[in-house]
Amino acid sequence: QRGPDADGAIRQTDTDAALARLSAVKKGYIEDPFITHLIPRAQFQPTRPPLINIGTYVRSKSIDALVEQWLEFCEQQNTVCQIVSLGAGSDTRFWRINTGPRSHVLKSYLELDFPDVVTRKAMAIRKSKELSAVLGSPESIVVASGGTALHSAKYHLLSCDLRHSPSSSLAPILDGLLSQSLPTLLLCECVLVYMAPESSSALVDWFVNYFSSAQDRSILGAIVYEMFGLQDAFGQVMLNNLQSRNVSLPGAAPYPTVESLPERFTRHGFTFAHALTLSEVREKYISHSELERMSHLELLDEVEELNLVLKHYAITWGAKTFMPVHKSSLWG
Ligand code: SAM
Repeated sequence: QRGPDADGAIRQTDTDAALARLSAVKKGYIEDPFITHLIPRAQFQPTRPPLINIGTYVRSKSIDALVEQWLEFCEQQNTVCQIVSLGAGSDTRFWRINTGPRSHVLKSYLELDFPDVVTRKAMAIRKSKELSAVLGSPESIVVASGGTALHSAKYHLLSCDLRHSPSSSLAPILDGLLSQSLPTLLLCECVLVYMAPESSSALVDWFVNYFSSAQDRSILGAIVYEMFGLQDAFGQVMLNNLQSRNVSLPGAAPYPTVESLPERFTRHGFTFAHALTLSEVREKYISHSELERMSHLELLDEVEELNLVLKHYAITWGAKTFMPVHKSSLWG
């Protein structure tokens, strides 16, 4: 059952994700010049075990690759696009895209999270020259709604509880910030799993309906990263571990296998959807030179455990096209 404590435990998962990212950066797995500015120095901790660093690497590289392909696709279609990140927490993706070679493809980037998380992030942005400079001139950055929202030319940070009915909680805050006729990518990195399946289904449904009304002009892409297949023995260990920290994962229940994951999108009429476990990504999509490079960063003792963990996390991605798009031109 949920209560203020359970929500606090869910918000805490953001600090865990950010510290894992910082650890992977410090150990040389990934590059991210922005993450340190989003974590208070007092919270810095010793680096994480190799297993966590490798998991963070595979997670990060998979989502980076899909987002990069999305931006390339939009560029080829001669259109700008929007990205909406649900449960964005301390994610730095906006800063990485907007300082990268495809910043011109990004029309707007919206992040949503609980008010506490948003307030903390808005303060960190205001305090950091490095973060705010990427948003534009100081006058163009506006903190609104008593600190629970921040707006700039492209980047918008908004508060909500994603479990509430989207028509009453999302629609009013997205009003005027999202265009119905632009390609839009929905990012759900480790967030839907904390909600009941009916809530996440209502969210996807709301976005599908929102863009359907633009008729023949739009495309809704979506990427979900999260745990699945927790019915087996190792899954139960993972669940128990989280339960001891007051975190439950109702969103994982409907997905016992990797094959069941694309249903999250196909059920809403997506044109196509795919899923890969992080274990498959590591085996098939990470180059030998990268694996070799990582093997020199630190010694991995827990090879068996790494494989078990990576088999319980997956990336699911898909798109619903409202305009003619050759399937192979996006994530084909
Ligand atoms: N997406 C970020 C990442 O991958 O680094 C953060 C992931 S963190 C594990 C989960 C985030 O989802 C937290 O910031 C949490 O506050 C947010 N979240 C979970 N349930 C939510 C809800 N019902 N409404 C708004 N935000 C929620």
